[in-house]
Amino acid sequence: MAKNVLVVGGAGYIGSHCVRQLILSGHRPVIVDNLSFGHRQAVPAEAPFHNCDLGDTEAMRAIMENERIDLVMHFAAFAYVGESVENPLKYYFNNLVATLNLLKVMVETGVRQFVFSSTCATYGIPASLPITEDMPQHPINPYGQTKLDVENALKALAHAHGLSSASFRYFNAAGAAEDGSLGEDHNPETHLIPLVFQAALGQRDHISIFGTDYETPDGTCLRDYIHVDDLSRAHIAVFDKLETPGSTYFYNLGTGTPASVREVIDTVEKVCGKKVPVVEEGRRAGDPPALYADSGKAKRELGWELQYPDLEPIIETAWRWHRDHPSGYAK
Ligand code: UDP
Repeated sequence: MAKNVLVVGGAGYIGSHCVRQLILSGHRPVIVDNLSFGHRQAVPAEAPFHNCDLGDTEAMRAIMENERIDLVMHFAAFAYVGESVENPLKYYFNNLVATLNLLKVMVETGVRQFVFSSTCATYGIPASLPITEDMPQHPINPYGQTKLDVENALKALAHAHGLSSASFRYFNAAGAAEDGSLGEDHNPETHLIPLVFQAALGQRDHISIFGTDYETPDGTCLRDYIHVDDLSRAHIAVFDKLETPGSTYFYNLGTGTPASVREVIDTVEKVCGKKVPVVEEGRRAGDPPALYADSGKAKRELGWELQYPDLEPIIETAWRWHRDHPSGYAK
């Protein structure tokens, strides 16, 4: 059944890709974004858009009621790990307090279905790999901690108020919309793949490799890069499960196939046919050597399947976006 879905942070990278998938699946997304990081151009013309701050609970309440919202997807969070260490209050207020305000409005207005963007950073440094959902969660920075705090609040709200929720623990979201309409445009950009493209396009001198002495096959960090459209489709595949009041779900979303920093750089060079200048640097503080997912639970329970199991096609979609939008949405 088609749902009215409030997408908080729907003008951002992952949120905007979810909005596109919602429309493709016949749902009605309503977007809330304060455009602090999101892009107005990433919001489709046909979708209602509210330029509103999550902290404005009166406005959020009115949107929830006037738009007859059935389900809320929440992507509006700060996501710079290093900054969260430097300025934890910013993260506790924006990622935890603002989310609790949103949940309070939901409880008060009777909206009982919630999809939350969580993170593999809730696991901290995993005891073994690949990571499964039942492994201990010991975040090593305030960013991961605030996401875990919300996950725990969701369990309590399920019990007390019958709120149903799914928290997706993302690994490294990558790539761009299959139709070229959306892509990754952060400011500042800190993510590996867009930075390598910037170096390939001559927009920066080089790409730095943070650490070449890890105990990994080529000495650089291993991560699990998952296509943002695959990620988005899982968010919709969970809708039926949320019909059961008070149900709480947690799923890893990754491909399960790790790629090293060097492999990412090599693949970008291959895809765009350009040589990328590389500078080897020391380790970046707080980087676990290897993170990759066992996403079997999402596949088994949601009938979700990867359309992009391999890195190269993911990078091809990202390259099309960066080639056609060298200045991002500002083009
Ligand atoms: N990385 C790098 N150079 C950069 C940016 C990132 O070597 O300029 C590495 C980083 O140390 C990590 C991987 O690339 O091992 C992915 O980093 P990113 O910031 O994209 O995502 P994260 O895994 O931190 O969420």
